Amino acid sequence: MFGPLSLLVIQPTPYCNLDCDYCYLPDRNNRSRLDLELLDPILEQVLTSPFIGKDFTLLWHAGEPLAVPPDFYDAATDRIRAAVARLTPGLTIEQSIQTNGILIDAQWCECFRRNEISVGVSLDGPAFLHDAHRRTRSGLGSHAATLRGIEHLQRQNLPFHVISVLTDESLDHAEAIFRFFVDHGIRDVGFNMEETEGVNFQSSLDRPDSEARTGRPQFARV
Ligand code: SF4
Repeated sequence: MFGPLSLLVIQPTPYCNLDCDYCYLPDRNNRSRLDLELLDPILEQVLTSPFIGKDFTLLWHAGEPLAVPPDFYDAATDRIRAAVARLTPGLTIEQSIQTNGILIDAQWCECFRRNEISVGVSLDGPAFLHDAHRRTRSGLGSHAATLRGIEHLQRQNLPFHVISVLTDESLDHAEAIFRFFVDHGIRDVGFNMEETEGVNFQSSLDRPDSEARTGRPQFARV
Protein backbone atom coordinates (compact mmCIF):
# COMPACT_ATOMS: atom_id res chain seq x y z
CA MET A 1 0.00 0.00 0.00
CA PHE A 2 1.32 3.48 -0.89
CA GLY A 3 0.69 6.89 0.55
CA PRO A 4 -0.39 9.26 1.64
CA LEU A 5 2.53 11.30 0.42
CA SER A 6 3.20 13.73 3.25
CA LEU A 7 6.88 14.70 3.16
CA LEU A 8 9.16 16.02 0.45
CA VAL A 9 12.80 16.64 1.34
CA ILE A 10 14.65 19.09 -0.90
CA GLN A 11 18.34 19.92 -0.67
CA PRO A 12 18.90 23.64 -1.30
CA THR A 13 22.66 23.01 -1.34
CA PRO A 14 24.91 20.04 -0.49
CA TYR A 15 27.29 22.49 1.23
CA CYS A 16 27.57 22.56 4.99
CA ASN A 17 29.56 24.97 7.14
CA LEU A 18 30.17 22.22 9.72
CA ASP A 19 31.96 18.90 9.51
CA CYS A 20 30.25 16.64 12.04
CA ASP A 21 32.07 13.34 12.36
CA TYR A 22 28.84 11.31 12.17
CA CYS A 23 27.44 13.13 9.12
CA TYR A 24 26.03 10.77 6.49
CA LEU A 25 26.12 13.26 3.61
CA PRO A 26 28.76 13.18 0.88
CA ASP A 27 29.77 16.30 -1.01
CA ARG A 28 29.59 18.76 1.89
CA ASN A 29 32.19 21.05 0.25
CA ASN A 30 30.06 21.49 -2.84
CA ARG A 31 28.62 25.02 -2.84
CA SER A 32 26.21 24.51 -5.72
CA ARG A 33 22.64 25.62 -5.16
CA LEU A 34 19.30 24.26 -6.30
CA ASP A 35 18.09 26.02 -9.43
CA LEU A 36 14.66 27.28 -8.38
CA GLU A 37 13.41 26.68 -11.91
CA LEU A 38 13.47 23.00 -10.92
CA LEU A 39 11.00 23.58 -8.12
CA ASP A 40 8.07 23.96 -10.52
CA PRO A 41 8.37 20.51 -12.14
CA ILE A 42 9.08 18.92 -8.75
CA LEU A 43 5.94 20.46 -7.25
CA GLU A 44 3.88 19.58 -10.30
CA GLN A 45 4.95 15.94 -10.02
CA VAL A 46 4.17 15.78 -6.33
CA LEU A 47 0.98 17.82 -6.25
CA THR A 48 -0.61 15.88 -9.09
CA SER A 49 0.28 12.53 -7.55
CA PRO A 50 -2.71 10.37 -6.62
CA PHE A 51 -0.91 9.71 -3.33
CA ILE A 52 -0.77 13.31 -2.15
CA GLY A 53 -2.12 13.66 1.40
CA LYS A 54 -4.21 16.49 2.85
CA ASP A 55 -1.34 18.00 4.78
CA PHE A 56 2.06 18.07 3.27
CA THR A 57 5.49 19.19 4.48
CA LEU A 58 8.30 20.41 2.29
CA LEU A 59 11.49 20.05 4.30
CA TRP A 60 14.62 21.98 3.32
CA HIS A 61 17.35 19.73 4.58
CA ALA A 62 20.54 17.73 3.84
CA GLY A 63 23.49 20.12 3.83
CA GLU A 64 23.08 23.43 5.66
CA PRO A 65 19.95 25.12 4.29
CA LEU A 66 20.96 28.53 5.66
CA ALA A 67 24.08 28.47 3.48
CA VAL A 68 21.82 29.90 0.77
CA PRO A 69 20.48 33.41 1.39
CA PRO A 70 17.03 34.34 2.72
CA ASP A 71 15.86 35.59 -0.67
CA PHE A 72 16.17 31.99 -1.94
CA TYR A 73 13.30 31.07 0.40
CA ASP A 74 11.30 34.18 -0.53
CA ALA A 75 11.45 33.12 -4.17
CA ALA A 76 10.78 29.46 -3.33
CA THR A 77 7.74 30.41 -1.25
CA ASP A 78 6.30 32.42 -4.15
CA ARG A 79 6.67 29.38 -6.39
CA ILE A 80 5.17 27.02 -3.80
CA ARG A 81 2.16 29.25 -3.23
CA ALA A 82 1.63 29.67 -6.97
CA ALA A 83 1.85 25.92 -7.57
CA VAL A 84 -0.65 25.14 -4.81
CA ALA A 85 -3.09 27.79 -6.07
CA ARG A 86 -2.83 26.37 -9.60
CA LEU A 87 -2.80 22.64 -8.88
CA THR A 88 -4.29 21.90 -5.47
CA PRO A 89 -6.15 24.87 -4.01
CA GLY A 90 -6.98 24.19 -0.40
CA LEU A 91 -3.96 21.98 0.24
CA THR A 92 -1.69 23.08 3.06
CA ILE A 93 2.02 22.89 2.38
CA GLU A 94 4.03 23.51 5.49
CA GLN A 95 7.60 24.51 4.87
CA SER A 96 10.14 23.34 7.38
CA ILE A 97 13.90 23.76 7.65
CA GLN A 98 16.42 21.63 9.52
CA THR A 99 19.50 23.67 10.34
CA ASN A 100 22.59 23.47 12.51
CA GLY A 101 21.49 26.90 13.75
CA ILE A 102 24.81 28.69 13.68
CA LEU A 103 23.77 31.27 11.06
CA ILE A 104 20.38 32.11 12.60
CA ASP A 105 20.10 35.83 13.27
CA ALA A 106 17.35 38.46 13.29
CA GLN A 107 17.30 38.56 9.49
CA TRP A 108 16.76 34.81 9.28
CA CYS A 109 14.03 34.99 11.90
CA GLU A 110 12.20 37.54 9.75
CA CYS A 111 12.60 35.21 6.77
CA PHE A 112 11.14 32.25 8.70
CA ARG A 113 8.22 34.36 9.85
CA ARG A 114 7.27 35.94 6.53
CA ASN A 115 7.54 32.63 4.67
CA GLU A 116 5.86 30.64 7.48
CA ILE A 117 8.79 28.24 7.69
CA SER A 118 8.94 26.12 10.82
CA VAL A 119 12.40 25.55 12.22
CA GLY A 120 14.23 22.49 13.49
CA VAL A 121 17.69 22.94 15.01
CA SER A 122 20.25 20.18 15.42
CA LEU A 123 21.68 20.27 18.94
CA ASP A 124 23.04 17.30 20.85
CA GLY A 125 22.50 18.57 24.41
CA PRO A 126 25.31 19.94 26.61
CA ALA A 127 28.51 21.28 25.04
CA PHE A 128 30.68 18.32 26.06
CA LEU A 129 28.41 15.95 24.09
CA HIS A 130 27.60 18.28 21.18
CA ASP A 131 31.15 19.51 20.58
CA ALA A 132 32.56 15.98 20.67
CA HIS A 133 31.03 15.46 17.19
CA ARG A 134 29.58 18.66 15.79
CA ARG A 135 32.66 20.64 14.79
CA THR A 136 33.87 23.11 12.21
CA ARG A 137 36.34 22.06 9.54
CA SER A 138 39.13 23.44 11.73
CA GLY A 139 37.98 21.23 14.59
CA LEU A 140 36.26 23.84 16.78
CA GLY A 141 33.04 23.04 18.59
CA SER A 142 29.81 24.59 17.33
CA HIS A 143 27.73 24.45 20.51
CA ALA A 144 28.04 28.13 21.48
CA ALA A 145 27.15 29.30 17.96
CA THR A 146 24.14 26.98 17.78
CA LEU A 147 22.91 28.28 21.13
CA ARG A 148 23.27 31.87 19.90
CA GLY A 149 21.05 30.97 16.95
CA ILE A 150 18.48 29.42 19.28
CA GLU A 151 18.52 32.56 21.44
CA HIS A 152 17.53 34.59 18.36
CA LEU A 153 14.55 32.27 17.82
CA GLN A 154 13.57 32.54 21.47
CA ARG A 155 13.88 36.36 21.50
CA GLN A 156 11.65 36.55 18.44
CA ASN A 157 9.14 34.09 19.95
CA LEU A 158 9.53 31.78 17.00
CA PRO A 159 8.61 28.21 17.89
CA PHE A 160 11.17 25.58 17.00
CA HIS A 161 12.02 21.99 17.72
CA VAL A 162 15.36 20.33 18.28
CA ILE A 163 16.72 17.12 16.82
CA SER A 164 19.38 15.59 19.00
CA VAL A 165 21.65 12.75 17.93
CA LEU A 166 22.39 10.16 20.58
CA THR A 167 25.89 8.74 20.38
CA ASP A 168 27.72 6.25 22.51
CA GLU A 169 28.70 8.97 25.03
CA SER A 170 25.09 10.19 25.33
CA LEU A 171 23.97 6.88 26.78
CA ASP A 172 25.85 7.66 30.00
CA HIS A 173 24.45 11.19 30.36
CA ALA A 174 20.67 11.02 30.07
CA GLU A 175 20.15 13.19 33.13
CA ALA A 176 22.56 15.89 31.87
CA ILE A 177 20.83 15.94 28.48
CA PHE A 178 17.41 16.26 30.09
CA ARG A 179 18.57 19.05 32.43
CA PHE A 180 20.28 20.92 29.61
CA PHE A 181 17.13 21.11 27.50
CA VAL A 182 14.93 22.05 30.45
CA ASP A 183 17.38 24.74 31.63
CA HIS A 184 17.45 26.30 28.15
CA GLY A 185 13.69 26.35 27.76
CA ILE A 186 13.82 23.79 24.95
CA ARG A 187 10.78 21.53 25.28
CA ASP A 188 10.28 20.01 21.84
CA VAL A 189 13.10 17.53 21.27
CA GLY A 190 13.32 14.50 19.02
CA PHE A 191 16.14 12.02 19.48
CA ASN A 192 17.90 10.20 16.66
CA MET A 193 20.19 7.30 17.37
CA GLU A 194 23.48 7.72 15.46
CA GLU A 195 23.07 5.57 12.39
CA THR A 196 25.38 3.84 9.99
CA GLU A 197 24.18 5.57 6.87
CA GLY A 198 25.58 7.18 3.73
CA VAL A 199 29.23 8.12 4.28
CA ASN A 200 29.00 7.48 8.03
CA PHE A 201 30.31 3.94 7.75
CA GLN A 202 30.51 3.28 11.44
CA SER A 203 28.29 4.41 14.30
CA SER A 204 29.61 4.90 17.82
CA LEU A 205 26.62 2.76 18.83
CA ASP A 206 27.95 -0.25 16.89
CA ARG A 207 28.88 -1.93 20.15
CA PRO A 208 27.42 -5.10 21.53
CA ASP A 209 26.36 -3.39 24.78
CA SER A 210 24.62 -0.33 23.24
CA GLU A 211 21.13 -1.77 23.29
CA ALA A 212 21.40 -2.84 26.91
CA ARG A 213 22.83 0.55 27.91
CA THR A 214 19.96 2.34 26.16
CA GLY A 215 17.45 0.51 28.31
CA ARG A 216 19.15 1.15 31.63
CA PRO A 217 16.92 2.72 34.28
CA GLN A 218 18.70 6.12 34.20
CA PHE A 219 17.92 6.43 30.52
CA ALA A 220 14.41 5.02 30.74
CA ARG A 221 13.54 7.46 33.55
CA VAL A 222 14.03 10.44 31.17
S1 SF4 B 1 25.38 20.12 10.39
FE1 SF4 B 1 24.22 18.41 9.50
S2 SF4 B 1 24.79 18.43 7.32
FE2 SF4 B 1 26.30 19.66 8.39
S3 SF4 B 1 27.98 18.26 8.81
FE3 SF4 B 1 26.64 18.31 10.62
S4 SF4 B 1 25.23 16.57 10.34
FE4 SF4 B 1 26.18 17.01 8.34
